[in-house]
Amino acid sequence: MSFESLGLAPALLRALSEQGYTSPTPIQAEAIPLILDGHDLLGGAQTGTGKTAAFSLPLLNRLSKQTPARGPRKPRVLVLVPTRELAVQVHDNLRGYGRHLQVASCTIFGGVGMGPQVDALRRGVDVLIATPGRLIDHMERGSARLDGIEVLVMDEADRMLDMGFLPAIKRILGKLPRERQTLLFSATFETQLKALALEFMRDPKQVQV
Ligand code: AMP
Repeated sequence: MSFESLGLAPALLRALSEQGYTSPTPIQAEAIPLILDGHDLLGGAQTGTGKTAAFSLPLLNRLSKQTPARGPRKPRVLVLVPTRELAVQVHDNLRGYGRHLQVASCTIFGGVGMGPQVDALRRGVDVLIATPGRLIDHMERGSARLDGIEVLVMDEADRMLDMGFLPAIKRILGKLPRERQTLLFSATFETQLKALALEFMRDPKQVQV
């Protein structure tokens, strides 16, 4: 199995080989074709399995197909994460894999000033990586618009629920276009999480590693 056979754009294949990746991990081999096909996906995966690339690569592939709009643009991909640390990590990964693409991403998390985040949003981004609480703050101020979101990723969803983010997640989900792709990654699938998936996902495929 090679990254070439998964149907990823040459600019992504180049970034992967520059980073020394030779072949996809099991979750990447299973999830990438399903995500590229547009399916909703429930991914059962721990950290360390390569799950970040499993969703980042097909997302970047989607964004690579359109020439970037000139000037400010609305985010097309939203990645919800439980913590600031994970937001930074996902952002770094996206930047690494997308180094040969013109994709703008930014992080939104609490504990720091709103100003720079508002400025970044105003300049226009394709990918928003956010913790739920701070994203709600931006939605209330009108600085984050979610009506252009094509793909939602919930990463470490079980941790987000453990941290009490369910009400915030539901509010955010209520503002997203209904016509979208939803990807949910979690190490565990408790009842509450299954209910969330059932309510907000469309015939999801399942991948477990
Ligand atoms: P993650 O599970 O997303 O936190 O990824 C775990 C680590 O594996 C990260 O440091 C990645 O850079 C690395 N990684 C992910 N996919 C691959 C791959 N296909 N080949 C080599 N390293 C990888």
